[in-house]
Amino acid sequence: MGRMADSKLYDALGVPKSATVADIKRQYRKLAKEYHPDKNPAAGDKFKEISFAYEVLSDPQKREMYDRCGLRGLQEGGMESGFPGSAEDLFSHFFGGSPFGGMFGGFGGGMRTGRRGPQKGENTVHKLKVSLEDVYNGKVAKLQLSKNVICAPCNGIGGRPGATQPCRTCNGRGIKVTITQLGPGMVQQMQSRCTDCEGEGQVISERDRCTSCRGKKVTQQTKLLEVHVDKGMREDQRITFKGEGDQMPGVEPGDVIIVLQEKPHELFKRDGVDLYMKYDITLTEALCGFTMVIKHLDGRQIAIRNPPGTVLEPGCLRGIEGEGMPIYRNVFEKGNLYIRFDVTFPDKYFAPEQKLKDLETILGRQEENPTIPPDAEEVDMQELDPHYSSGRSHLTDDDDDHHPTGGPHVQCAHQ
Ligand SMILES: [Zn+2]
Ligand SMILES: [Zn+2]
Repeated sequence: MGRMADSKLYDALGVPKSATVADIKRQYRKLAKEYHPDKNPAAGDKFKEISFAYEVLSDPQKREMYDRCGLRGLQEGGMESGFPGSAEDLFSHFFGGSPFGGMFGGFGGGMRTGRRGPQKGENTVHKLKVSLEDVYNGKVAKLQLSKNVICAPCNGIGGRPGATQPCRTCNGRGIKVTITQLGPGMVQQMQSRCTDCEGEGQVISERDRCTSCRGKKVTQQTKLLEVHVDKGMREDQRITFKGEGDQMPGVEPGDVIIVLQEKPHELFKRDGVDLYMKYDITLTEALCGFTMVIKHLDGRQIAIRNPPGTVLEPGCLRGIEGEGMPIYRNVFEKGNLYIRFDVTFPDKYFAPEQKLKDLETILGRQEENPTIPPDAEEVDMQELDPHYSSGRSHLTDDDDDHHPTGGPHVQCAHQ
């Protein structure tokens, strides 16, 4: 099976097919200098081309495979058709994503050549726990965080001016490419971040490094942020500090975003602008009125009165207008406070029978006792737990549908 060998990689470097490794290296250095994106931002693609060509041709194994099978062979082995068009086409196929079903798929997106343009750094998100009191009254929280700032002594260069060199391991691409032969004529190309330059594509030799940042271009600094938690702010509300994120040379720093997290309160539950609480009262209080005292979130004591004659049924909800949360940016307005009442009933045998008669007189009876037929069976109720009751099994008996009996169903007769 003849494969189309090509010379495009040699052409990219401008060396003959017979070039020695030393020739290739020399030529690459010359071109890399000329087309390095730092000097020649418009020539990014050309730089990718020569870097890739060098990558293949400087590796005897890859070069051999390329010589035998051409680029196409290098890419996916086996397939026959000629490679389309010019060198530009070729490399745009290489780097711009792929008609080749993913073999080189990762190449497009991951190809960075050091020049990233004026991009924005990532935002840093911090959670800030606040109490319900904090968002009721408002407060200023001090948040200490450490961030990267551009190293002042070296001005973010990482060393003395001109100390930056293209990384030799990745030829300034920041990416290491490994070609693995999967089988005859089948290769897989994997790419990973270059560990020598940490994906930067550039290195600074030890002796040229800035002593302050040790070549890292940034130093860590502790910063105290004053976070204004305003009245009425809510769970998940964001407070943004523009441009306070990590600094990096050539990158507009991102924002620091504080996300509020409300701690649960032992008495109140918040729902938007309203507050909810539960309160236990006795049956006597439910029937005869009462006054309760609560401490509000700003420390005020509030005496809440339920006048006698206003009966509270178990589980009922009552509200007090304007005692809820302040409304964000409209703090003179407030939501409501709602109270759900649980009624505690008296203990068993809480009063002698005669007293109960008195109570009965006060409460009155809705209906007269029913007349008991002479043949009725009289039984007393007791506390029975249905889960442990012996009568449990017969409860399910009328649930006929679940019995997989083959016989005719009684229900059928009714249809
Ligand atoms: Zn590198
Ligand atoms: Zn420095």
